[in-house]
Amino acid sequence: MPAYDTNNIFAKILRGEFPCHKVYEDDHVLAFLDIMPRAPGHTLVIPKAPARNILDIKPEDYAHVARGTHKIAAAAMIAFKADGITVQQFNEAAGGQVVFHLHMHVMPRHNGVALLP
Ligand code: 5GP
Repeated sequence: MPAYDTNNIFAKILRGEFPCHKVYEDDHVLAFLDIMPRAPGHTLVIPKAPARNILDIKPEDYAHVARGTHKIAAAAMIAFKADGITVQQFNEAAGGQVVFHLHMHVMPRHNGVALLP
């Protein structure tokens, strides 16, 4: 697996070099709106630790991502009056990953409404 690239776009967002619409931040994770949302409120939760994906992250850092994802999913249910939540995550190009800093997609869902492609 390739090494972590410190010039990926989410690393730049973490360093404040590129803007984002921040939803939540603590010492370990940052959550912000996806620039091309597949559902209203589509949010990305990322670790502050430099990890390419789930194959690269330390278990203790992944625990923070899980906690942040749990928090955002619960908040999104209320904020978007959602009927459900889809959590999705891709690893390596073959697994559908495009940005190589670990991120969890948190997508509020409504009955009968499909995700945008
Ligand atoms: P994935 O790696 O999970 O396949 O896709 C990367 C996700 O990051 C996509 O949903 C894409 O819309 C989102 N994304 C890519 N570049 C940016 C960006 O600069 N800002 C934000 N907020 N989201 C981005």
